[in-house]
Amino acid sequence: MSNHYEAIVVGAGVVGPAIATGMARQGRRVLIVERDWSEPDRIVGELMQPAGLKALRSLGMIQAINNIEATPETGYTVFYEGEAVSIPYPHKADTAVVPPIKSCVFGGNDKVVDDGFVTTAEFEDNEYEVGVSFEHGKFISNLRKIVKAEKNVTTLEGTVTELIRDADGVHGIVVKPSDGGSPQRFTGDLTFMCDGIFSKFRKSLTDDNVPSVNSHFIALKLHNADIPVPNTGHVILNSKCDPALVYQITPTDTRVLCAYNSPQLPRDVKKYLREKVLPVFPIGLQPSFTKALEEPIKSMPNSYLTARLNDVPGLFLIGDALNMRHPLTGGGMTVGLNDAAMAVRTLEDVPSLSDREVTSAKIIDFHYDRKDLDAVINILSIALFSLFAADSSNLKILQRGCFKYFQRGGECVSIPVGFLSGTIPKPFLLTWVFTKVALYSVYCNFVDNGVLLLPLSIVQVFTVLFTAVVVFAPYLIAELFQ
Ligand SMILES: Cc1cc2nc3c(=O)[nH]c(=O)nc-3n(C[C@H](O)[C@H](O)[C@H](O)COP(=O)(O)OP(=O)(O)OC[C@H]3O[C@@H](n4cnc5c(N)ncnc54)[C@H](O)[C@@H]3O)c2cc1C
Repeated sequence: MSNHYEAIVVGAGVVGPAIATGMARQGRRVLIVERDWSEPDRIVGELMQPAGLKALRSLGMIQAINNIEATPETGYTVFYEGEAVSIPYPHKADTAVVPPIKSCVFGGNDKVVDDGFVTTAEFEDNEYEVGVSFEHGKFISNLRKIVKAEKNVTTLEGTVTELIRDADGVHGIVVKPSDGGSPQRFTGDLTFMCDGIFSKFRKSLTDDNVPSVNSHFIALKLHNADIPVPNTGHVILNSKCDPALVYQITPTDTRVLCAYNSPQLPRDVKKYLREKVLPVFPIGLQPSFTKALEEPIKSMPNSYLTARLNDVPGLFLIGDALNMRHPLTGGGMTVGLNDAAMAVRTLEDVPSLSDREVTSAKIIDFHYDRKDLDAVINILSIALFSLFAADSSNLKILQRGCFKYFQRGGECVSIPVGFLSGTIPKPFLLTWVFTKVALYSVYCNFVDNGVLLLPLSIVQVFTVLFTAVVVFAPYLIAELFQ
């Protein structure tokens, strides 16, 4: 039985360590396999929304944001054609509560400790929700330290090459160890597949479980940048290029992610950045942006994948392997960690994961229970990207209307940022707010066009509202009803 585990976890990125820790704290024997345990150097997962932090707390893993020189984030600043609007995270009294998972929270592990960057005053005593940004690799190393400290966990470095599968479902994995040894077989009652964006195993559910890629993010790292509004994420919008994100990841480094709205990257990436993006950046950021162009540039595809029902007994796809959205709104870790927390909570009262009937029923519950948060974050990410990267006159009207809607302040800001931060997981409220933004955009268009263009404005009422429906409705249906 030494090669048999109650839970096998594939991948130790964001989600894998959370699942493995949760399972181990339930007293289960866990194997976690990662192909490379050294600190990753990636451009993904660098800004965590408040609801991601809530999930980490509920798992007793919040201290993973400590001692990595992380930056507290109080919200966003949106720049649009020379104007700026502030979008602070909502008041805690207005947001959803994520209760602690009994087996996971003990000894104050659901509270941050003061480390000079992350403080109790900012994260525990604050009346407002707060997010955090950091170097991805350092955060992952902390998550891995937590999982490695669990006594029920065995860690292994190697690449999972196959699932052990028969007509009854999945029974384990085959691993090619990193040290070049011969492949090893491990059996497990339940295999959690957390192998991320390029998952090799998501097709185990169905052959057509394949993400779509319609845009890319091109990344720069600025050094000693003059950040316009410190401790906020910056969204830079402009009619001349696709949106860009800016946020601090260390006390001296600032990440810039520039969207490129095409399945292919530009032929000359640096030329695109220099000629199209640099000129629309806030003046203060331009010198460090120019300097960063001398360094190698990284990029990533932006993938979208609706979650399928995990209906293969013994297999539980989770994290990016299961479900992806546009990274514009920085929601991936939040969805992944909330899924991890929900999975751990859902399985908490299952005495043995080898009882496939009970375990499968719980996984079906998970599929439906996760939809509210998942739908809000995923739909918003796609809808906002469509508006912010507007490539038609109707979308540009919606883009401008959206910015003006934010300028109204009050609930026109606190509710949308509640969706974005994952703290107001209400898909039907999101639908209502999106409808209001579309109607407000049409109204602003009337005002901008004036009396002389009244006939055009009347036609645009229909074309703009039709565009809004096309941007929103297919994703609402896919996310809620698939
Ligand atoms: C450009 C970009 C920017 C992003 N920015 C943000 C952001 O700011 N905030 C945010 O919340 N989200 C962001 N995301 C999304 C976020 O990074 C992901 O949602 C998150 O990393 C998913 O976690 P995961 O554990 O599912 O996958 P990963 O974190 O990718 O982990 C997968 C792990 O599995 C391992 N693995 C893969 N295959 C195997 C195998 N066969 N055998 C063994 N191990 C294997 C990998 O080495 C890796 O460690 C961004 C995404 C992109 C593309």
